Amino acid sequence: MKMKTRYSINAIVGMQLCLLLTDCSGQETVVGTEESQSLIDTLSVYSSARLTFYYTSIDRDSIQAIARYVEASYERIVADLKPESLTTIRIFLYSTLKDVHRAIGWPDAPSWVKGSATGINEIRMISPASTDLDATVTYDYMLSCLVHEFTHCISLHVNLRIANRPRWLWEAVAIYESRQFVDPKKLEYLRNGHPPSLGDLSDINDTRIYQVGYTIMDYVVSTWGIEAVRELIRSNADLVNTIHMNEGEFQEGWCNYVTDRYLK
Ligand SMILES: [Zn+2]
Repeated sequence: MKMKTRYSINAIVGMQLCLLLTDCSGQETVVGTEESQSLIDTLSVYSSARLTFYYTSIDRDSIQAIARYVEASYERIVADLKPESLTTIRIFLYSTLKDVHRAIGWPDAPSWVKGSATGINEIRMISPASTDLDATVTYDYMLSCLVHEFTHCISLHVNLRIANRPRWLWEAVAIYESRQFVDPKKLEYLRNGHPPSLGDLSDINDTRIYQVGYTIMDYVVSTWGIEAVRELIRSNADLVNTIHMNEGEFQEGWCNYVTDRYLK
C-alpha cells in the first residue's frame, strides 16, 4: 500500500513537470513577464559545458553537482535523439513554488505544478532542495525530473510539433531517457492483464503514462533500435510507416514484451 502511494505521488509530480507552455505551432511562448524579469535579476548564473543555470542561494553549494548530473545525461540523450541543431539550454531553479508559478506566467497555479519546459531551450522548475517539496519527493527524483524536462527540449529540437502529439510518445521518450522506470510488477493493472490503450495514455487526466512510459520505449528500442524512436518523434508516432504495425498490434506487442521481460 505504501509503495502504491509513493508511485501515485511520483506520477502526479511527473505530470506536473510536463506542462509545456508552447502553443499549437510549437513556437516558444514568452513567459518573461516584468515580474519574472525582476525575479531573474536576483538569480545567480552558472554555466557548465553546454548548459546555463540560473539559481538561488539554496543551490549555491550544489549547483555544480546538479549541472554534472544533467551534463552526464546530455551526451547520451543527444546521441539517441539526434537533434539537427542545438543551442545552450537555460535551466532556472527557483526556491519556492510561488516563484516557479510567477516565472511560468501562472501565478495562481495549484501547488502540484512544480515546473515546466517553457520553450525549446528553457526549463523552469523548483529547486530539488526546496522546502516546498513534499517529503516523499526525493532529491534524486527531482534531478531525474530535470533530465526529463531536458529530454522534452531535445525532442522539440527533433520535431517542433511533437509536444503532446501524441502525448503517450512525448512523455514516454522523456521518461525513458530520464530512466524514470516503474517496475511493472508493482502495477496491478499490468499484472492483471488490463493495460491502458495508447488512447488512454494520451488522455491528460490519465497519469499511467508516467508508470508505463519507460517500458513502451524499452519495447521499441529492444525490438527496432533507437533509430525507431527518432522516426516516431519525427513522424508524430506514425506507427504504420515507421515500424509497420497498427495501433492494436503495437499495444499487443508491448503487452507481450512486458509480460515476457518483467512479469515472468
Ligand atoms: Zn513530461
